[in-house]
Amino acid sequence: MGEATPAPEALRPLVVRTRTELRTALATAPRPIGLVPTMGALHEGHASLIRRARAESATVVATIFVNPRQFNETADFEEYARDEAADLTTAREAGADIVFIPTVEEVYPAGSQTTVRVGALTEALEGAARPGHFEGVTTVVAILLCLAGAERAYFGQKDAQQLLVVRRMALDLGIATEIVACPIVREPDGLAMSSRNVRLTPEQRAAAPVLRASLLAARAAYEAGERDGEALRTAIRGVLAAEPLAAPEYVSCADPATLRELARVDGPALLSLAVRFGSIRLIDNDPLP
Ligand code: AMP
Repeated sequence: MGEATPAPEALRPLVVRTRTELRTALATAPRPIGLVPTMGALHEGHASLIRRARAESATVVATIFVNPRQFNETADFEEYARDEAADLTTAREAGADIVFIPTVEEVYPAGSQTTVRVGALTEALEGAARPGHFEGVTTVVAILLCLAGAERAYFGQKDAQQLLVVRRMALDLGIATEIVACPIVREPDGLAMSSRNVRLTPEQRAAAPVLRASLLAARAAYEAGERDGEALRTAIRGVLAAEPLAAPEYVSCADPATLRELARVDGPALLSLAVRFGSIRLIDNDPLP
């Protein structure tokens, strides 16, 4: 018996850790390339992005990088879940061809002194609650988009403001990659999947679907004819107030293009919120109509 030839499946995904390895792998990769940037701790939400990229691309690149520059709380960065072996299995099963797992030094070369900052869009909501967060996001996403030179990059609607900010950045900087929005993937009880969910205590986990429930209460009010922005925000706050473990950070009913709070909802709107359960901070959103 001769040696078994490994099936191509067994070689996937190709793991690359340096800029040079990524460039080399992509130089001969069939196009179009689809890029899925993540911070790892991959779950079904990430997998849905990779599957979408798989369906639309000849080469799928996922990136795993827990970006220190976008964390405004040291504990959140240090406690962020990391499991490379599990992530590679998830990435392979979802269809990734290449997984880029760089070190901090590889992403930010020694002496790095460039940041990318988007304006007013980053000042509301997550930007107001997490100083410096979006500068970290836009800087790393700009670097990843430049390194990959992908035709498309896939982002989750779960981070609705991030999606808007990344789109704005790509347009402003003339980055040719098309930014593709993908729907929020939820647990059966409605909780939006998040790498932070695993850090909730069982009691907090049981309470966490209140984010979705509060958004649905506002949606129900909207569908019953409510068009007053503050009344919709109050509907969300009312449901959250009934859950003692939930500490709301912000509740918003905003223009989905500018993220300015709306007095009246005469067109599309974005309902969004951030809620703390102990030290864990969760976000969710729902676009109206
Ligand atoms: P993260 O690893 O949290 O930085 O997320 C990487 C990408 O996955 C971002 O574009 C997120 O919006 C997206 N994502 C995270 N959670 C979900 C989810 N539950 N549904 C859809 N996309 C998600």
